[in-house]
Amino acid sequence: MIKIEDVTYEYKSLIDDSIQQAVKNLSIEVKNGEFLVILGHNGSGKSTLAKLMNGLIMPTRGDIFVMDMNTKDAEKIWDIRAKAGMVFQNPDNQIVATIVEEDVAFGPENLGIPPLEIRTRVDEALEVVEMTEYKKHAPHLLSGGQKQRVAIAGILAMKPDCIILDEPTAMLDPIGRIEVMNTIKKLNKVENKTIILITHYMDEAVEADRILVMEQGEIVMEGTPKEVFKQVDKVKELGLDVPQVTELVYELRKEGLDLKEDILSIEELVELL
Ligand code: ADP
Ligand code: MG
Repeated sequence: MIKIEDVTYEYKSLIDDSIQQAVKNLSIEVKNGEFLVILGHNGSGKSTLAKLMNGLIMPTRGDIFVMDMNTKDAEKIWDIRAKAGMVFQNPDNQIVATIVEEDVAFGPENLGIPPLEIRTRVDEALEVVEMTEYKKHAPHLLSGGQKQRVAIAGILAMKPDCIILDEPTAMLDPIGRIEVMNTIKKLNKVENKTIILITHYMDEAVEADRILVMEQGEIVMEGTPKEVFKQVDKVKELGLDVPQVTELVYELRKEGLDLKEDILSIEELVELL
């Protein structure tokens, strides 16, 4: 789906011309249908990487291919953004219309899709995110979780194969977080969308097929959630948490209990105990 080949990205300071490498010699392949989570503390380069994958910024060195289209190819940029849609942290910054269904129609309208087809796409997208009953509502009256699902519907209406979400739940309350996570899981499992989710919530990361951990623009850990989170000390050294249940197992093991170390769910632990 996405191929990142030895990519470096440098921000140049406007003040003193100094250069900061936000992404360093990174190579990643994201497979079709994969649910990938990217973790890393603040400033590790996650948002820069997301913008690179969406063609919002261009690599300083190296190449990025979205379904074999190079993000540097100016003619392909709208195809790339339609195929790999992006959802940002703040839902208020993503909503452009005063009625939900108009907001969802905005993307496909810009792609020049015929009106009848737009109507079908909007209805389908609202159905997937379970917001059909709000289609005539004003977005600013919705909860954060609902707004974020409308933003996701707006991306879905462009029929993407891949959706990149940069901390989509960071500004939501616990209920909104659960709603949005359920939507994201459904997009992956039912709608077969490739998902790239940037998050700092470990209970969201355990849902992934694969986790990448970034630190200073580089990938420092990679593996399934079990492979990553069983390395509790390493994850903590990188300034991140492990899921609560994994932490509990870690403490119990230190006290001498003979438990396996790669436990990610309460159900698993209860069964073992
Ligand atoms: P993350 O999303 O993991 O918090 P970012 O990709 O936002 O990380 O930032 C990576 C590094 O690049 C940070 O050191 C940050 O200060 C720097 N950076 C991000 N955006 C800019 C910018 N527009 N100009 C200069 N430096 C930036
Ligand atoms: Mg960020």
